[in-house]
Amino acid sequence: MGSRSVVIVGGGVSGLSLAYRLHQARPSLKLTVLEKNPKVGGNIGTLDRQGYRVERGPNGFLDAKPYTLELCADLGLKPQLIAASEGARKNRYVLKDGKIQALPNSLMSFIRSPLLSWRGKFSLLMEKYRKPRTGLEEESIRDFASRRAGREVADLLADALVTGIHAGDPALLSVKATFPRMVQFEKEYGSVMRGFTAVGREKRKSARAKGEQPQPQRMWSFQKGLQVLIDALESRLASCIQTGVTVKRLEKQGNLWRVYGEGTDSWEADAVVLTNPAYEQAIAVADCDAELAQLISEIPYTPVVVVALGFPQAAVGFQNLDGFGYIAPQNTKRDILGVQWCSSIFPDRAPAGQVLWRALCGGWNRQDILNWDDEQLTRAVVRELRETMKITGEPNFVEIIRWPKAIPQYHLGHLSRVEKIEQRQKAHKGLFLGGNSYSGVAINDCTENACKLSQKILNFLDELGN
Ligand SMILES: Cc1cc2nc3c(=O)[nH]c(=O)nc-3n(C[C@H](O)[C@H](O)[C@H](O)COP(=O)(O)OP(=O)(O)OC[C@H]3O[C@@H](n4cnc5c(N)ncnc54)[C@H](O)[C@@H]3O)c2cc1C
Repeated sequence: MGSRSVVIVGGGVSGLSLAYRLHQARPSLKLTVLEKNPKVGGNIGTLDRQGYRVERGPNGFLDAKPYTLELCADLGLKPQLIAASEGARKNRYVLKDGKIQALPNSLMSFIRSPLLSWRGKFSLLMEKYRKPRTGLEEESIRDFASRRAGREVADLLADALVTGIHAGDPALLSVKATFPRMVQFEKEYGSVMRGFTAVGREKRKSARAKGEQPQPQRMWSFQKGLQVLIDALESRLASCIQTGVTVKRLEKQGNLWRVYGEGTDSWEADAVVLTNPAYEQAIAVADCDAELAQLISEIPYTPVVVVALGFPQAAVGFQNLDGFGYIAPQNTKRDILGVQWCSSIFPDRAPAGQVLWRALCGGWNRQDILNWDDEQLTRAVVRELRETMKITGEPNFVEIIRWPKAIPQYHLGHLSRVEKIEQRQKAHKGLFLGGNSYSGVAINDCTENACKLSQKILNFLDELGN
């Protein structure tokens, strides 16, 4: 078979892992990755400043799905992987009534926890016995959680979960699009709790059958940060990557696609894959299909500002630092969405005797914060940390990273929009859409989609024949 060509737009983890999977499966394929920025990695990147190691975007990835760990293994990165500390796994906190309070991690701590009233606790325990819903209409996360576990759980725990992952509004996000497993558990097991119990039982059984110790879900990174994954992908794909190219337009010419950048350069390919954010994909497809562009451009994004701060440990009054950090549910509309205690989660994130934290600000309900200047942001975050973490003095390190369009929001209607996008896309043979805009925003979702997309692309190229 002659050498076929694929152009991938976007050099984030979606585009790079897709290119890597395609190269692995078919080394003869002519691959080109076009990236707008001078550096690849997209949201992922690690900074080393003044002895602090700061993640610009994601802090780590979970092993709930195997895709990212498998990618790391294939890249020979397994020995460099580090799991989050045991304390970070077990000890998570929520801000309620201005105070940091532990999320229960056992039945006893749940019973004793002041987070929920007795009525709230009872309502949560009754989730197992509530009838599953039979209606088909899409439901928001807030409505789903209220219906299954009561309003208190929806306003505190479900909100905290959504704030931590999507920085979004639980009343607007579609539960089926953002947490498909929860909806599936209700359908299959009659209850979310029963679903989790059954899956946990199955996991323990299969680990024992392999002679392994059952492991709880963990978060992973590398000693030198997530940059290690990007650097490894980049070094394997170096000859395919072209940075500083902003793709603006696509055109079908006979059986081939022509991809245009801002200048006079263009690239020809049998298949073109867009893994850049939805609002950029919409620009690229506008000339060939205005309706498709309109549908894609309707996917909204939320802003997030990462304020990384270093303090001497002696300046921290809060005693239980062996944890992941805390979340302030969106409905509290505070200046900080949550704080990750980075130096408690992974080693070597701060110099000896110092702590490194990342305050995440903004989110769907506080989009105004994106416009605050560095001084206003730092002042607001430090003020909040004085109240919550009991700090004294000023930070000895500050790094601010603004993400004006950080995370796509799968609002109500997302699934039917994606269905329409897929329908229209069928008319454009050889055009593939990927990235985090459609079916999952976590790194694991991106690497999973890349695996699945690589297979679809290979099938398409096989159908083209010689
Ligand atoms: C602050 C923050 C914290 C997060 N925390 C976590 C976490 O802890 N765990 C987790 O699993 N996930 C987390 N996420 C989500 C996760 O990081 C992203 O979903 C994932 O990295 C997206 O990868 P991607 O390749 O799909 O998109 P991106 O990383 O956005 O990459 C897209 C690339 O396309 C390029 N591009 C854009 N337009 C063009 C164009 N016209 N032409 C060429 N190139 C273009 C961009 O420059 C970019 O490099 C977080 C995200 C953010 C922002």
